Amino acid sequence: MGMEFENLPEGIYRGRIAPTPTGFLHLGHAKTFSLAAARCRAVAGTLVLRIEDIDRARCKTAFAKAAMEDLRALGITWQEGPDVGGNFAPYVQSEAMEYFLSVWRRLRDAGAIYPCRRSRKDVAAAARAPHAEDDAEAIFPMEWRPEDPDFGKDFEEPGDWNWRFRVPAGESICFRDALQGEQRFVAGTDFGDFVVWRRDGVPAYELAVVADDIRMKITEVVRGADLLKSTARQLLLYRALNAFPPAFAHAPLVLDASGKRLAKRNDALSVRALLARGEKIV
Ligand code: GLU
Repeated sequence: MGMEFENLPEGIYRGRIAPTPTGFLHLGHAKTFSLAAARCRAVAGTLVLRIEDIDRARCKTAFAKAAMEDLRALGITWQEGPDVGGNFAPYVQSEAMEYFLSVWRRLRDAGAIYPCRRSRKDVAAAARAPHAEDDAEAIFPMEWRPEDPDFGKDFEEPGDWNWRFRVPAGESICFRDALQGEQRFVAGTDFGDFVVWRRDGVPAYELAVVADDIRMKITEVVRGADLLKSTARQLLLYRALNAFPPAFAHAPLVLDASGKRLAKRNDALSVRALLARGEKIV
């Protein structure tokens, strides 16, 4: 029998593990993914594996393959996916562009998004006010929104624009996280109009992850606590798409000896290095 959890959603449970193959999995991934697998197993749910490789320049097939090997070595299995010789292949985001485009169209038709020429650099420069804290998030200035609320509605393709979500400035986005408790973020203050489609022709993380969690009928998202604020943005996307959001459980981040978040380039703490040294991981 798996671990017991008091706070699992009732009904059919569908979870997912969604690595981005830009490097080897590290201890933080191992802990988060093991927790995701344990929560799913505890209620005999279905776990899917999704490779988040939208950013083709940074992602490598070899890392996706390595992630699958590491997951297996950790005893993490998934119960769904395309059949490859009796095994389940992962769902691969870079193969779902048509679907992501259909979601872009729905957001465009709903008037929830608009095309924008401003880059991340522009936003960072605008936010570099004398008193701004260094690590504070750069907020997209409201006055940069197009005046015409219908701007973009007649675009047939995303083209070479960034597309941003029009956040409801001043609205509190609240949710109860199964592990971190009550959360509250204010749109327009904690985050501004965020990119859902990138000018290089691919969906941004926020759109891809929500679109896929809807398509895969995920009932609970288990991921790292670094994504808590993203969840607030994503809840706005669920609403704009008329979709019921999943439950959320954000796992505490794993820090290295100097108190910094683990990065994929820290190979000494990669799952494979730890396993090779015979260290206990989870
Ligand atoms: N692919 C993301 C990552 O590796 C996780 C996204 C998510 O779980 O929502 O950080």
